[in-house]
Amino acid sequence: MGIILFLLVLAGFGLCSEVKILSDNFYPAGLNVIKLKTKNAYIEVKTNHRTLKFPVHKEFSFFVIPYQTGKIAVLNVISEGRVIFRKFIKIKSREYPVSKITVKERKLTKELIERIKNKNRILRMKLSQYTEKKFTENSFIKPLKVLSISTSFGAKRIINGKKRSVHWGVDFKAPEGTKVYASLSGRVVLAKELFYTGKTVVIDHGMGLHTLYAHLSKITVKEGQDVKGGQIIGKVGSTGRSTGPHLHFGIYLGGVRVDPFLAFRLKL
Ligand SMILES: [Zn+2]
Repeated sequence: MGIILFLLVLAGFGLCSEVKILSDNFYPAGLNVIKLKTKNAYIEVKTNHRTLKFPVHKEFSFFVIPYQTGKIAVLNVISEGRVIFRKFIKIKSREYPVSKITVKERKLTKELIERIKNKNRILRMKLSQYTEKKFTENSFIKPLKVLSISTSFGAKRIINGKKRSVHWGVDFKAPEGTKVYASLSGRVVLAKELFYTGKTVVIDHGMGLHTLYAHLSKITVKEGQDVKGGQIIGKVGSTGRSTGPHLHFGIYLGGVRVDPFLAFRLKL
């Protein structure tokens, strides 16, 4: 057993000094930065529950530890069908709160459900796009001047007494009309009102990285517009399915959900 472990470690670290992991966000939904010299390759993160694939970029690349996860993730760098780097990542454990909310239930017609599904499909598609790097900042800018969390990322949602999906973003309390800032430079790829998230903005920062701002009272940017990190994109509100004025803020990599607070401490 000892020898096998030794060989695995050798295979992982010894043979490939061209791979450098520059972060240790080894938590569920943790965004990480990795540097690779090999171009013709992709990154694979495997857990008992999921296998995620991420492309390799010139300067540096990203990978995410999936939220549904076990204790170990295997990070593989694969080039021409061969694993050229492997690392066993011990995933740090995390407790997630339960969040109970009561909202007005609206009876949805079949037609409306279909429309919502369609818009969700479009949103998911936009969040999974990979484009060239658009941000120049070295770290995420906070979307509000003051961050006061009301519901954290990963909270288990109970809506009107029924178990619903996990909360895939962070909710920040703020008075209606508070200015909301772009978290990094990028291009606005969505700026419209959606059923659940209300007035919503999605910014594509390139390299698969997107941020989402929901329940706004006002959107001050247009689809297709380039924005700078820190630029005002809208104002806090309570549109869509919401219990009061707040900003729902989400980060995605290639459509994979990222814990914003783990991303905030990252050096890009
Ligand atoms: Zn939320």
